[in-house]
Formats: sequence, structure tokens, C-alpha cells
Amino acid sequence: MIPFDNTYARLPERFYAHQPLRGVPAPSILRLNERLLKALGTLDSAALGSREGAAVLAGAAAAPGAEPIAMAYAGHQFGHFNPQLGDGRAVLLGEFLAGDGTRYDLHLKGSGATVFSRGGDGRAALGPVIREYVVSEFMAGLRIPTTRALAIVRTGDTVLRQRGPEPGGVLVRIAESHVRVGTFQFFAARQDLESLRTLVDYVVRRHYPSLSDHPTPALGLFEAVCERQAELVARWQLVGFIHGVMNTDNVSIVGETIDFGPCAFLDAYEANKVFSSIDQRGRYAYSNQPMIGAWNLGRLADTLLPLIDEDEKRAIAAVEGVLDGYVKRLGTVLAAGWRAKVGLALEQPDDQSLVGRLLEAMEQGKADFTRTFRALSALGAEADTKDDALRAEFVSTKAIDPWLADWRARLQAEPQGDALRQAAMTRVNPAFIPRNHQVEHAIRAAYDAEDYTRLDELLQVARDPFTWRDAYAHLALAPTDDEEVRQTFCGT
Ligand code: AMP
Ligand code: MG
Repeated sequence: MIPFDNTYARLPERFYAHQPLRGVPAPSILRLNERLLKALGTLDSAALGSREGAAVLAGAAAAPGAEPIAMAYAGHQFGHFNPQLGDGRAVLLGEFLAGDGTRYDLHLKGSGATVFSRGGDGRAALGPVIREYVVSEFMAGLRIPTTRALAIVRTGDTVLRQRGPEPGGVLVRIAESHVRVGTFQFFAARQDLESLRTLVDYVVRRHYPSLSDHPTPALGLFEAVCERQAELVARWQLVGFIHGVMNTDNVSIVGETIDFGPCAFLDAYEANKVFSSIDQRGRYAYSNQPMIGAWNLGRLADTLLPLIDEDEKRAIAAVEGVLDGYVKRLGTVLAAGWRAKVGLALEQPDDQSLVGRLLEAMEQGKADFTRTFRALSALGAEADTKDDALRAEFVSTKAIDPWLADWRARLQAEPQGDALRQAAMTRVNPAFIPRNHQVEHAIRAAYDAEDYTRLDELLQVARDPFTWRDAYAHLALAPTDDEEVRQTFCGT
């Protein structure tokens, strides 16, 4: 059914705990990601979609070659260090190779308690499983590195959550890695240098093989991780994605978006927007994400210092240099990304202030982030009635009108005409995002009526969120005041 080829389970037992199977009453597949299965090329979709497949994917039946483990990790949660977290509601079934040779983890979320569950039940409600499935599919469609959802399994029983009993679900996901910054912190907290070395070796061999000849692999690894995180966080900013829980245990060592809890996309642009109910102080607000990314990488650096240089001062100097590189790289990707979003192919000194003033106008005018950039993508170098579609996004056009004039003045310096520029802009400014109210709507319909039409509609547009489709125009609408989601919950 699954051609397992496991490597993490070969690491010393300190890295994980073997996970016994937990029964669930009536596992059934709610959605199987057939397109992804096809692209992977090595998993048998008919077998996975069968009754036995459902039991395996619910973590309730053994599969040949699977070696279920719960991974050990630590992490800073909202700035506070917890030396012992680990997979409390997740299990790594094993790894497999895709047709292109890429090695993936096959991971279940919500399949039952593990030794790391602490007070939790190890289970997941269907709602958050649907949310992760939808949002991670969109991330992939937006071409942002992410873990991928392979299936939603219903467990057939209920889990108790704040709002009462909810149907239970398991999210089956694949990732190039489930090693996190927190995995390094787990061993550093125990002053277990030998395991840290083993972990660096493992990660370099599996994920960054070109570093195996590096004179200081730990430093090379740090640099590579910084680069991936810089790209990742910059790209989140450019689509208005707020992760919501950027704890170090949710920072992937390969730079994939991982652990979609109370994540949300900006509706109206607000620099300091926070959705998550548990983020009381706004630590993980939209505009803080780049800086928090650096802070998290600093925590990775802490764990690597002894492997970088026995002289701590020299080690610190080395990692500081690399962290500066994160800031520069992020700045470069962001600057280029913002320029592309407003249709500028050339680079000119005042471009970032032009973008900054657009964002200010959007904040003042309560303009929808996604719709504004998409509407801008349709405008020509000469003012005409099409401008009204953009202006309609603003409660007051006081700031956007002069901005449009400045933007057009700047377009004079551009070599390309309207058609080319508009085409380039629609390739970077999505028409569709997983709007918070739409995702909520899909979850509510699933709960109340086992109606999955809205879920499937979202999954349709997630495949290519840059292409406008009339049939799904309702998914591109900003929420009304009644529909707007103001707060999101972890809720799993
Ligand atoms: P998160 O912030 O969602 O990535 O989770 C932080 C930690 O809490 C991880 O160690 C999770 O495994 C654990 N956790 C979250 N929800 C549950 C649950 N329902 N049961 C057990 N552990 C959980
Ligand atoms: Mg997590």
C-alpha cells in the first residue's frame, strides 16, 4: 500500500517513542488528495481509499513497513521555553520515496494519545483538520513551501472541545521533514551534544546533502535554514498570511509552512493584525513575523554554538553574521515581491516608499489586501473608469487617489506596456485565498449537514488561485461585517 523506507526510526531511541496503534470506531476517508497522490507517483490510491486504507490512515491498523513513532522535541512557546513537547497528537508512520526521488514523511495528526500528550487527548476535531487541508492546499497553489495534506479521515467518534462535542478527524499529511528548531532544542536542553551531532548529520544528509563537505556543517546548516526561513516568511508577508503560532516547535528545518492552527489571511489590511485567541499580546502579529523569524533562528543558533566553534565568542560572531544574512535575504525577497505586486519590473530607489504608502492608504481605507492588489493588476497606465473597481475597495479614496497618480508617474519609467505588466501582476497577486469566513463556512456545513460542497469549491480554486474563475466569484468576495472572522482558535 505504501512503500515505506524509514530513516528517522533508525536514529537512537532518544529521538522518539514507538507508538502503539489506537483503535477508532469507524474510520472512513472523507477526502483523498488524488492529484497529490498522482503527482507523488508511488502510493496506491485505490488501496489507500479502501476500508483497510482508511484504518491505516486513521492510525488504527498496521501497515507493512510502517514504524509509527512520536517524535521528541522541545520549543519556545510565546517566548517561554518548554523542554518537553513532542508529538502529542501526531504520529510519523514512516517515510517513502516519491517518483522524483524526494523522500517524504507520512504523518498523521489526531490519531490518538502518545507519551508526549501531557494533558491532551491526542485527538483532533474535524474542523481544524478541514482548515489545515484547505489552507495547506492553498499554500501549495500559491507556490509557498508547505507540508501537504494527503487525506482527511473521519474517526467515527466525537472529541470534546470548548464548544462541546465535535466529530473527530485525522489529517494525513506529507512533509519533507518534521524536524523543527524545537528538535535541536530538545537535545540542547539536555546538554546532549552527541545527539545534537547525530541530528545535524541526519538533517544534512537527508535535506542539505551539498553541505556534507562543508568545513563546519553546523554553521552551513544554520546558513541554509536561515535562507529558507527568510524566503518563507517573506512570501507569507506578500500574500497576507498570518501563521499565528510561530513557536520554535512550529519552525521547520526545511522551511516549509507547518502546523496550521489559528492561522488566517488578512482581509482588510492592518499591519498589526492578530487573529489568534491565544496571542494576547500580538507577539505573532502580521508585521512581527519577519522579526519573530529571526528570533526563532537565534534559538536554533543557541543550540548549534558548541558544534560551530569551541571558542564561544567566535561561534557567536559566526552565527550573528549569518543572522544578518537572514535579515538581508528577507529584505531582498520582500522588496522584489512588493515591486512585483505593484507591477514594477525595474528597480528604483523610491519603490519601497511607494509600496509603503499604498499599504498606509489601504490601512486607512480599510481596503481588502488581496482584492486591492488584484484590482490594481487590472489597471492601465492611463486613468479610466476601471479605477473605480479599485477605489471601491476603500472606504475613503482620500489617500488612494493621489497614490494612483504617483504610481502612474512611476510607471512611465517602466519598459513594458499595460498588457505585459498586467499579466505579470496577475501571476503574483492571487484572485483567491482561503478566506477565513469561507473556511468557517465550509467547516460549519460539514458539521451541521455533512455538506462538503464549500470544501470542494475551495479545493478547486486552491489548485490555481491566480486564475480568475467566474463560477467561483463568490469565493473572492471580502466578508461582510456579519461574516468577518475576528478571532481564530487552535481548537484541535
Ligand atoms: P501546536 O502549538 O499546535 O503545534 O502544539 C504544541 C504542542 O501541544 C505539541 O507538543 C502538540 O503535540 C501538543 N498538543 C496540541 N494539541 C494536543 C492534543 N489535543 N493532545 C495532545 N497534545 C496536543
Ligand atoms: Mg506544532
